[in-house]
Amino acid sequence: MRDDVDLHIHTARIGCANETMTVPALLERCEQEGITTIAITDHLNTPDQLPTHLQIKEDLRAYEGPIKITWGVEVNVIDKDTGAVSINEEQVEEAGFEFVIGGPHSTYFTEPDIRGIIDLQHKLMMAVVNNPLVDVLVHPWWFGRGEFENGTLAWMTDLQQVPEEHIDELAEAAVATGTAIEMNACAIITNPMYGPAFQEDYKRYLRDLYERGVSFTVSSDAHDINSVGRSKLAAQYLDEIGVPDDRIVVPPPSDFS
Ligand SMILES: [Zn+2]
Ligand SMILES: [Zn+2]
Repeated sequence: MRDDVDLHIHTARIGCANETMTVPALLERCEQEGITTIAITDHLNTPDQLPTHLQIKEDLRAYEGPIKITWGVEVNVIDKDTGAVSINEEQVEEAGFEFVIGGPHSTYFTEPDIRGIIDLQHKLMMAVVNNPLVDVLVHPWWFGRGEFENGTLAWMTDLQQVPEEHIDELAEAAVATGTAIEMNACAIITNPMYGPAFQEDYKRYLRDLYERGVSFTVSSDAHDINSVGRSKLAAQYLDEIGVPDDRIVVPPPSDFS
């Protein structure tokens, strides 16, 4: 079980994580939690955030402790027709990102349309998995809290509506492209919008992906210092469904010197 790894951590600089997540503070907390291998993956939703990413890289360059750090970024799907994501090759090169994680961050629906939402989400996840810039599909079936509260996703108490062909297709594409699928603690396991029925189905969903050859990553998706270390829950979740360590992806650390 890789409970020493966390491949999805945000920082205070972009402003999605809160002020507790300064780079020195989060690295110190990782050390205390026994997390030895991490990826820093703040959001890049628009190109004007690139200079801030370079500041984060400077913060990481100043670190002299034992943690192995991979320099990464989290991108969003910005076009629901094509599934295009919020980064291009030039931007990956400019910032020197060595690990790109990404996925849809919205339903793009305003009405509760079960079939429509599931089919669109599947199409967008497929586009992300097939995107050669992306190494990891993040938090499948995560949706923002507001979309449950406004009723768009009130029906989503489990994953019974996800057709098996979707699972087959996603797994096949992930294996063919070498894209990992993320097990995310904050978005899924500790997310109060998902009850026991959803969690049970999610484990079955991951097991189905595993049996079809998919590899996974372990992450906290921490936005607050007290969530650093929750990646251990994700490692346990994968362990419970029988995923061995050789199916857990750990990228090489980046050289910040
Ligand atoms: Zn995300
Ligand atoms: Zn995230």
